[in-house]
Amino acid sequence: MSLFIDYDCINCDVCVPECPNDAIYFGGDYKIGHPKYSEIYVIDGDLCTECVGHFDTPQCVEVCPVDVCLPDPDRVETDEQLLAKIKIKGESRGRRSK
Ligand code: SF4
Ligand code: SF4
Repeated sequence: MSLFIDYDCINCDVCVPECPNDAIYFGGDYKIGHPKYSEIYVIDGDLCTECVGHFDTPQCVEVCPVDVCLPDPDRVETDEQLLAKIKIKGESRGRRSK
């Protein structure tokens, strides 16, 4: 199950460097109207593996001072599906570097 960031995020930026999948970004970096625009940090559900494959616990949950990194009930996934995201991401990176 991917995670999402709830509206009470205080934009502290602490979680970003802790994510092993580079799945967290500040939505405000996008222009208003962009599908990824948000006034708070967001988690890309296509990249988040709940830290499966890297750590025993979700690292954003561990470091968030206001406990707003929550399981996304709309993204229920098995460990196998979560691990497949790492593989897909690795393959797309490989393609870009050629
Ligand atoms: Fe990144 Fe892990 Fe948080 Fe998902 S659970 S956003 S992979 S730190
Ligand atoms: Fe928001 Fe928590 Fe990440 Fe800080 S650590 S940016 S409060 S989700």
